Amino acid sequence: MAYTRLHVVFMLSYASDLRAALEFLSSRKDEVIRIRKPVDAKHELAAVYRMLEGGPVVVFENVKGYKIPVVSGFFSNRRRVSELLGLDPSDPMQLTLRCGEALANRVKPRLVGDGACKEVVVKSEVNLMKTLPIMKAALGDAGHYITAGVVFAKDPETGNRNLSIHRMQVKGPNELRLHIDKGRHLGVILSKAERMGVPLEIAVAVGVAPAVMLSSTAKLPLGEDELGVAGAIQGEPVEIVKCDTINAEVPANAEVVLEGELLPDVWEDEGPFQEYPGTYSVVSPAPIFRVKAITHRSTPLFYTVFMRESHMLRGIQGEVAIYRVAKDTSPIVQKVHLTMGSCGRHHAVISVKKEIADHEGLQRNIICAVFAAMREADLVIAVDEDVDVYNMSEVEWALATRFDAARGLILVPDARSHEITPVSREGIRSKMGIDATAPFQMKDRFRRAEFLKVDLKKYLE
Ligand code: MN
Repeated sequence: MAYTRLHVVFMLSYASDLRAALEFLSSRKDEVIRIRKPVDAKHELAAVYRMLEGGPVVVFENVKGYKIPVVSGFFSNRRRVSELLGLDPSDPMQLTLRCGEALANRVKPRLVGDGACKEVVVKSEVNLMKTLPIMKAALGDAGHYITAGVVFAKDPETGNRNLSIHRMQVKGPNELRLHIDKGRHLGVILSKAERMGVPLEIAVAVGVAPAVMLSSTAKLPLGEDELGVAGAIQGEPVEIVKCDTINAEVPANAEVVLEGELLPDVWEDEGPFQEYPGTYSVVSPAPIFRVKAITHRSTPLFYTVFMRESHMLRGIQGEVAIYRVAKDTSPIVQKVHLTMGSCGRHHAVISVKKEIADHEGLQRNIICAVFAAMREADLVIAVDEDVDVYNMSEVEWALATRFDAARGLILVPDARSHEITPVSREGIRSKMGIDATAPFQMKDRFRRAEFLKVDLKKYLE
C-alpha cells in the first residue's frame, strides 16, 4: 500500500539539496546529460555511464521497466564538487580546507515534522527490484547492487548516530546483503547489537544532499555524528525526520529511504562486485539487511555511485585527514592531493615550502606522518611548492629532476593498507615514500627557468 503526503519545498542551497544541485548544473553548459533512450539496469546502464565517467552528471530517464530515473556523477569531478559548495574551482585546495573547517565547526541537525522523503510510503509487500532501478553493473558481479546508500545507524549502547556508505547486494524482495569493510564504525556498532542479541535498526537514504554525501565519508572518531559535518559544509543544519518503522532519523529531503534492520548473527556470502580498484571483490560474509518500509518522494531520483565518484568521496576526506596530520607535523606543508589514478586512496602528493636550512628533512617526517594519517596511503611523494600537486605531469617532472632513488626512497615493509586492493595480503602491503624535493642547500641548482608573464589573450585577438 502506498499513500501520499503533501509537502512544501523551500529554497535550498546547492550543497543542501540534490535536486537544487541538479537544477543548478542543468542550467549550465555541458554539466548534465540526459539519456532518453531506454537502458537496461542490468549491465547496459553501467556500460553507458562508464563512457561518460568523469564528465557530466548523467540522468538515465528511461530505465527499462522503471518509472524512476537513475542519476550519477555529482562527485565524478573535482571542479564540480567545488562549484556545488560555492568554492573557487581553480584552487582545488579550497575544497580540502573547507571540509577541514567543517570538522572543526560542526552544525547539529534539526528535527522537523515531515519531509519530502515521505511523500510516498510503502510498508507492505516491499519489493526492492520492482520499485527501484537497482543496477547490475559489471559482467562478473554477483547481482544487483545499491551503491549510493548512506546508512544511518545508532550505537545501541550510546544512541550516537553514525553515517557510512556501503555496497548492498539485493538478496530477495525485501532483503540485501550489506558489505562492511574492516574497521568501519557500522561494523563496531553491529557487533555491539549482536552481543546484546538484538537486531540493529538502520535506515538507508539513497539520493541525499551533496553535503550529506560528502560528510558520510568524513574520518571521525566513533561516536561523533557525521551529520554535524554536513551541516557545517552546507552552512545550515541538515533537516531530519523520524523514520516510520524504526528508531532512526534521515534527511527530510532524501530521494529514497529504506527502513529496516540488520539481523543479529546472520551472515551470508556477498559478492563478487566490481570494487573501487576496478577489480572484483572476494566473496565474503555480510550481514542481512531486512527492509520493512520504503519511503520516497513522489517523483524520486535514484542515485547510483560508480568508481570515480567513490574515489572522489574517499579522496577529499582522505586529503582532509592527511593535511591535518601533515600540517601538525610541520607547517611547511602547502597542499595535499590523493590522485584519481590511485582511486583517491593509495597515492598522495604533498607539497612543502622549505624556507630555512632547518626545514631540510622535515619533508621526510611528513611522509611518515601521512602513512599514519590514512591507512590506504601506500605511496607518498613530497614535492616543492613550485610543483602543482594536482598535475601528474608536473609531479613526474619533479621525479625526473629532483629524485634520486638511492637517497630519496623510504620503504616501510608490511604495513596495513586496504584489504580490497588485490596486491595487499589481507590488507598488508609495503609503503613507499619518495622525497622529490630539492635539497635546501642546493636550491639554485634546481631552480626552474623563469619567463616574462604575458596575457595570452592579447596575442590571440
Ligand atoms: Mn563514523
